[in-house]
Amino acid sequence: MSGPHLRDFKRIVFFTGAGMSAESGVPTYRGAGGIWKEYDYRRYACQEAFVRDPAAVWEFHNYRRGLVAACSPNRGHHIVARAGQRSARVTVVTQNIDGLHALAGSREILELHGNLWRVRCDTCRVKQQDGHVIREQLRCDGCGGWWRPDIVWFGDMLSEPILDAAQAAIEECDLFVSIGTSAVSPRG
Ligand SMILES: [Zn+2]
Repeated sequence: MSGPHLRDFKRIVFFTGAGMSAESGVPTYRGAGGIWKEYDYRRYACQEAFVRDPAAVWEFHNYRRGLVAACSPNRGHHIVARAGQRSARVTVVTQNIDGLHALAGSREILELHGNLWRVRCDTCRVKQQDGHVIREQLRCDGCGGWWRPDIVWFGDMLSEPILDAAQAAIEECDLFVSIGTSAVSPRG
């Protein structure tokens, strides 16, 4: 049997969501109870909560970082990354914030909901990549404002440049593959 193969396509977009991360053991918001029982994540993943109590919101996100740090890319991440190493131009558009696509070796990644391993200053907006599992430095070196995770929380807007780039990639592609997504889009 010879069906279509990834190498038959020139421009591929992989659109990935929570199900992709779940395969690696990253906890998702779906499913009642579980590890989110101890945190009402909606309360700890919004700007209002951050303004009220940044340290508590960081405690929650450091906890999330610890959970994600224990996870590795799965077979799906590797297949996506390998497709990008061949002749096709591959863009990963993802709702996931765990950074596992990059870890697997994908290069062109559009993270619709940001990245758990990047912070931005809530005051001056400067961004910083963060290799530490536990974020201890909570104040911006430049202006003294609070660092916050550079992820899209409940009530946050999606980044327009990222959305535009994702839309352009999807319009140009000759193969669109959706993995682990659903109509409902939980945010970080
Ligand atoms: Zn700052």
